[in-house]
Amino acid sequence: MDVKDPREGYCKKSVYVASGNWGHSHQCSRKAKVDGYCKQHHPDSEKAREEDRKAEWARETETRKNNRIQEEKDERKRILNPLIAALTEMRSEYALSERAPVDIVDGIIDLVREGLEVPDDF
Ligand SMILES: [Zn+2]
Repeated sequence: MDVKDPREGYCKKSVYVASGNWGHSHQCSRKAKVDGYCKQHHPDSEKAREEDRKAEWARETETRKNNRIQEEKDERKRILNPLIAALTEMRSEYALSERAPVDIVDGIIDLVREGLEVPDDF
């Protein structure tokens, strides 16, 4: 917002100064450079800063999203890697046994319960 009746030669932007719980607005104390504004308060500068803020916000959002995805992948790996290792071992150990399918299924169930922290009587 601009002041209604700007002092000649000074930036016409109205700036807010906080003071305790209150504050007040007054005309910017810098000299006017372009279009009646100081460099900082020129609409082009304010627009550029706003776009920088938006870009920064978008980067932070993207980083948070990527971190969350990575955490989920790590958690799945933590749960599933032992399962894959155990299945691989069972497969080679029981490959020629008739009991293989039942043992493998029981083993999978145990490992999934463990990985998901599901109690046995669930
Ligand atoms: Zn200014």
